[in-house]
Amino acid sequence: GAALGSMTQALLYKGIRRVKREGTKERRRTMMGLDATRYASKDRVGLAPLDETIWKSIRAKNMGDNRLRVFLWKIVHDALGCGSFWENIEKYKERAKCPTCDITETAEHTLTECPSSGQKVVWNLVQRVFEKKGIDWKRPTPGSIASCGARSIVNPRTGKPRTGASRLYTILVSQSAYLIWKLRCEWRIGKQGEKDGVPTDKEVHNRWVAMVNRIIKLDALAAMRKPKGKEKRTGPCPVLFANTWQGVLLDEEVIPEIVNGKLRGVSGVLVGISPLVQEGRTRRVPHYRAKPSSRRCA
Ligand SMILES: [Zn+2]
Ligand SMILES: [Zn+2]
Repeated sequence: GAALGSMTQALLYKGIRRVKREGTKERRRTMMGLDATRYASKDRVGLAPLDETIWKSIRAKNMGDNRLRVFLWKIVHDALGCGSFWENIEKYKERAKCPTCDITETAEHTLTECPSSGQKVVWNLVQRVFEKKGIDWKRPTPGSIASCGARSIVNPRTGKPRTGASRLYTILVSQSAYLIWKLRCEWRIGKQGEKDGVPTDKEVHNRWVAMVNRIIKLDALAAMRKPKGKEKRTGPCPVLFANTWQGVLLDEEVIPEIVNGKLRGVSGVLVGISPLVQEGRTRRVPHYRAKPSSRRCA
C-alpha cells in the first residue's frame, strides 16, 4: 500500500502544517473533541475526567500500540482523514461526503452511524463478547471510543475495578473502532467509494473475528514470554491474560495452559464467535485467516 500510504501521508502533513498555521481553530476543535470525550466518559464512569485523564486514557498501557493511540488522538482532534479534514483541501472536497448517506463524513458518522462502514456489525460483535464477560454496553460515541483506555469496569458487588474486564474493554473498543476505520478507508480510497465496494456484513464479521483471534494469539504469546534477568515484561502476565479473556474464549483450556506455563500452541479460532462461511459450502472452513493487510490507515 505504498501508493495510498504516501498520498495520505503527504496530505496529512499538509493538513498538519495548515493546522499549525490556524492554531486557534485547531485548539477550538481539540476542545470540542475533549468535551465530547469528557461527556461520554462521565456517562460511563460517573465522573467527568479532566483533559489530562483523556490523555492518560489514550496513553494507557492497555492500549495495544501506538497506531491505536494516534488513531484515538485523531478522533479527539477531529483529525481523521474524513469530513472536516478533507474539506480543508480544495482538491479533495468530494471526499468530504459519505457516498451512501450524502452527509459530511465525520468520525461520528463513520464509527457510529454509517450503514456502509461495517460499524453496526462490528459493534454488535463487541456487544456479544461483552455480554459473555458481564460488561454493560451502550451505543458507542466518538467520546466513549476515545476514552476507552480509562479503567472503569467495576464489580457492582465489591465496587472494586475488574482489571481483566477493563483491559478487555480497552482492547476491543479501540481495535474494533480502528477496524471500522480501516474498512472505511478500503472502501473509500481502495474501492473509490463505489456501491459494490461496500463490505458485506459477512466480510465485516469475518474480518472482526480474524482480528480478535490474532489479538488473542499475540496476547497469549506475549503472556508466555518470560522476562529474562532485569528485563521488564512487555505483555500481560499470565494471570492478567487469564483475567482478560476468561469467559469469552471458544476453548477455555488455553487459559490454565498459559497460567501453568504449559501452552502447546495457539491457532485458529479463539474467540467464542465463529466466522461465517459461504452459503452452500458443505466443508467446514478449518481456520479462518485474514489476508495480510496491504495498507495502513490513520
Ligand atoms: Zn455514510
Ligand atoms: Zn486510511
